[in-house]
Amino acid sequence: MNTKIEAIKQKALNEHIPIIMDDTLLEIEKRMKEKKPFKILEIGTAVGYSAICFSEFLQENGKIDTIEREVDRADEAINNIKELKLEDKINVIIGDAVEILPTLNDKYDMIFIDAAKGKYPFFLKESLRLLADNGTIFADNILYKGYVMSDYNKHKQRTAVRNLREYIQNVTQDPNLETEILEVGDGLAITKRK
Ligand code: SAH
Ligand code: MG
Repeated sequence: MNTKIEAIKQKALNEHIPIIMDDTLLEIEKRMKEKKPFKILEIGTAVGYSAICFSEFLQENGKIDTIEREVDRADEAINNIKELKLEDKINVIIGDAVEILPTLNDKYDMIFIDAAKGKYPFFLKESLRLLADNGTIFADNILYKGYVMSDYNKHKQRTAVRNLREYIQNVTQDPNLETEILEVGDGLAITKRK
């Protein structure tokens, strides 16, 4: 891996910023290699690590839109992206995805959901609206440390758990969708249209 990208990753890990885990990234990269996306939407930029990794697999002239609500993190992401000269490929949108998503109208070949777990059902609804016909939605942290698949419901994170369960129900019970749930990292849901 490029040493600048490695430094961005190490700094994020040191600061306990929840960047994508290695096995999750590998799984997504494997699928991107098979079918290179032209447009990617990411919900949850943090400091830009995952977007920077994904950018390597874009089609020529492809682009990433990525949304982050914490201004300091978004600024750090913008700086990281500039340092790597990726500003023509990665566009950071600063704001709450709950407000930003309804204003978007492009179609995306790949959507990566990696932000507030309590908002996953809403992110899904908007992602399905924005997904290209042959596109794929990846949702990170879908098994949330195992809470989602256990009978655990007394945790302070129970709202998150309830909403992650609702997300899984929606993507597995919709007859128009095809979903795999992988136990890589913190759980990864991969959804396509049939
Ligand atoms: N995708 C990044 C990690 C994202 S961590 C990577 O792998 O490198 C999740 C990020 O989502 C945090 O920075 C958090 O501030 C942001 N976030 C959480 N809820 C959000 C929301 N509703 N809108 C926009 N950003 C949000
Ligand atoms: Mg994550």
